[in-house]
Amino acid sequence: MVDRFLARFGDCIAVLHSKLSVGERYDEWQKIKQNKVKIVIGARSAIFAPINNLGIIIIDEEHDSSYKSEMSPRYNAKEIAKFIAKQNNIPLVLGSATPSINTFAKAKTGKIELITLTKRANKSSLPEVNIVDLRQELANGNRSIISNKLYDEIEKNLNNKEQTILFLNRRGFSTFVMCRDCGYTVKCKRCNISLTYHEYSNKLKCHYCGYEIKNLQICPSCKSKNIKYFGTGTEKLQNEIQKLFPNASTIRMDIDTVSKKNSHEEILNKFKSNNIDILIGTQMVVKGHHFPNVTLVGVIAADSNLNIEDYRANERTFDILTQVAGRAGREKEGRVIVQTYNPKNFVIECAKKQNYDEFYNTEIELRKQLKYPPFCDIIMFSISSSNKEEVEQASKKIYCILKNNCKKYNTILEIYRPVVSPISKIKNKYRWRIIAKCNLNNAIVNLVNTTLEEYYKLKFKNTRVVADINPNNMN
Ligand SMILES: [Zn+2]
Ligand SMILES: [Zn+2]
Repeated sequence: MVDRFLARFGDCIAVLHSKLSVGERYDEWQKIKQNKVKIVIGARSAIFAPINNLGIIIIDEEHDSSYKSEMSPRYNAKEIAKFIAKQNNIPLVLGSATPSINTFAKAKTGKIELITLTKRANKSSLPEVNIVDLRQELANGNRSIISNKLYDEIEKNLNNKEQTILFLNRRGFSTFVMCRDCGYTVKCKRCNISLTYHEYSNKLKCHYCGYEIKNLQICPSCKSKNIKYFGTGTEKLQNEIQKLFPNASTIRMDIDTVSKKNSHEEILNKFKSNNIDILIGTQMVVKGHHFPNVTLVGVIAADSNLNIEDYRANERTFDILTQVAGRAGREKEGRVIVQTYNPKNFVIECAKKQNYDEFYNTEIELRKQLKYPPFCDIIMFSISSSNKEEVEQASKKIYCILKNNCKKYNTILEIYRPVVSPISKIKNKYRWRIIAKCNLNNAIVNLVNTTLEEYYKLKFKNTRVVADINPNNMN
């Protein structure tokens, strides 16, 4: 983004993001304050840049969940932008090829203006998307994670010296490890989560807290040696590809390979300039990169996000499939192979057609029936404690206070009983949650605040409570 703006507008740009050092950040901040720049480009917190004479705010890829901060203060940059735009009486532009359902609903109902781009920027045609039914592959005796169709297309690309991106949203080698004799699954001792096997370090790691142990040879429960690895992560995928195509060059991009500063950029540059045959990665490979020689994109497991317990599962799957497909054929003609166990699912079908409107029309009906946003706002109380009994007591208490306050404030709030969170323990903290649906207004905000205040007076010493409005993550 910065490169493109520098090329077009020259040296009048300030850049703000979290990888800057304190000194760099200070310099950028001063440049902005002293009116030395015309454009500020930045990630989420750039919305707070001290611009004196603001004329327009543009939020690109507005559907991206990272605009909402998951740490305190839990602000949403889109909401802040809306507020600043109103205060300054300036336009706010939300841009996306796959707008969030909430934003598009506002455009459809005339709450915000809809401006549609009908042509692709570089005038190239959309890539052709093919769906492969993985159940059929299994029935035909192919037990590999690469379908026959994808294999053929990769081979074609290697022969033509064109590049391929393979997308898989799970890192590590195997996603869980189980004893074949007694069924014991290796879990993190601090979190209620299976450990992921990483082959390069020969360790089992927790992706939630970082806990790791040496790989197991013997089952801790029954002492059997019959330990089996299940599920496929990016590491195993790279391994498979190297076995299937020993002459192909590959590079992997996921959290494990981009932990150092700049390594993200290095991998992408290497892929581009050294003309490496195959880039394998998690959703990091999806976003906005421009690789002219990439003509094939393979989605290894399109279903992996479809079955998560979140009302946005469909939306996220559609976004990611559309975006990953967009990496193919930026200049030359491109093909996309989507491997799935649910070829008839409407999300997969709409993604194949790359038809956002059809996806939106079906999804908005589902949301309406189930009463999910945009037909309500969600408030989530997350309650966590190292004390298993206390977290339960505290949750029940908050629930009572909330119910009582509803009557007092005469506000309508649909409150669900407290339950154990889908991930019941993280970093030795037991987790509960209370979910409520409402139409957010000042009365609701007051109600939430009063509830928290009343709760704090009860002095549950070891319990932490967080109230989050329209949370990104409901785990
Ligand atoms: Zn853990
Ligand atoms: Zn065992």
